[in-house]
Amino acid sequence: MISVQQALDIIDRFPNRFSSVEVKLQDALNLVLFEDVFSPINMPPFRQSAMDGYAIQYSEAEKFTVIEESKAGDSTNYTLKPTEAVRIFTGALVPDHADTVIMQEHVEREDQFIQIQKMPSKFANIRKTGEQIKTGELALKKGTKLNEAAIGFLACLGVTTVSVYKTPSVAILVTGNELQQPGTDLEIGKIYESNSVMLKAALQKSGIKDIKIIAVKDDYDATKICVKKALQANDILLVSGGISVGDYDFVKEALLENDVEELFYKINQKPGKPLWFGKKENTYVFALPGNPASALTCFYIYTLPLLRKMCGFKNNHLQKVIAKSKSVIKNPSQKTLFLKAYLESEFVEILQGQSSAMLYTYAMSNVLICVDSETAEVNIGDEVTCIKLDV
Ligand code: AMP
Ligand code: MG
Repeated sequence: MISVQQALDIIDRFPNRFSSVEVKLQDALNLVLFEDVFSPINMPPFRQSAMDGYAIQYSEAEKFTVIEESKAGDSTNYTLKPTEAVRIFTGALVPDHADTVIMQEHVEREDQFIQIQKMPSKFANIRKTGEQIKTGELALKKGTKLNEAAIGFLACLGVTTVSVYKTPSVAILVTGNELQQPGTDLEIGKIYESNSVMLKAALQKSGIKDIKIIAVKDDYDATKICVKKALQANDILLVSGGISVGDYDFVKEALLENDVEELFYKINQKPGKPLWFGKKENTYVFALPGNPASALTCFYIYTLPLLRKMCGFKNNHLQKVIAKSKSVIKNPSQKTLFLKAYLESEFVEILQGQSSAMLYTYAMSNVLICVDSETAEVNIGDEVTCIKLDV
């Protein structure tokens, strides 16, 4: 049995290799750039008016003759002499001969003449060519998570596709004779299968789209076949259940039989002790305990960081905060505890119903309190580490 830190250190060594994929910019939300993006154009591409007003050559004159009009999208570069003005609108091309735009609020218009009421400083109200970014300059760095602003920015540079970290494809293999799909009346001795939909939701929250679910009975041969199938063409295999020491737990043998290398098995923690982690070529395997709360905790603490690293995220672990405990916690077991809890401002309270078979407490918690194996007791007001559950 290894410690939580040892298990995390092993997982942190991976992946050894990252994959990229070219995607359309409109499909790239929340994905991470795999390479630097350089601007293919100057932005703005030409001198633009920043105001509705009049483009002029800056002078001391007080009266100008309006000779032409330039609205957004027009391409004529009007020639103008001193004391001539071009009526101009926001975003329109500023004629090369003009160096200043006067806001329309600062002139009085009379027929084709304008009387200046307030002359701005020279060069005012003109966005320079390449003011935001010039051709060939770095637009966004490798490792940038593409939020909506980044997508808008790249779109304004005319970028249509980007190279991003490939999000892993994931197979979920659920094991158990007792499992029945929701939507039918429960037979005696059966329970509804809930881990696959829960894990799928957790994966989707992290932007994973390629998810397959396979169900198998507690049968060694069938498990072996299903593991083989699930290992093919998937970056991550999540197995649920069948990894304990019961007579009908066949997952470990089925994995080893399929040449998955065991990297660790069993962690000194509660819940989730029987977590198994292994690797076959570039596929990573987490055999999660079947108890729903254990499965989810193992997913958050161990699977999610690897998954997020594969997606290119630098902050791949869930965020930790320190809070004051509103509860007494006893830990005589010398195991690391992950306790479902509710954090409100700087106080955190343990919720009732910590059993690894129970999800109802989980559904109401926003953090897991992590009590390390050496801490035997936490008293009210003591500081504890909380792992935030929102990604
Ligand atoms: P196991 O790890 O296979 O021994 O399962 C431990 C407990 O979790 C048992 O009570 C199982 O019935 C339950 N369990 C296993 N898999 C699932 C699942 N997919 N959905 C809901 N409960 C499960
Ligand atoms: Mg089972």
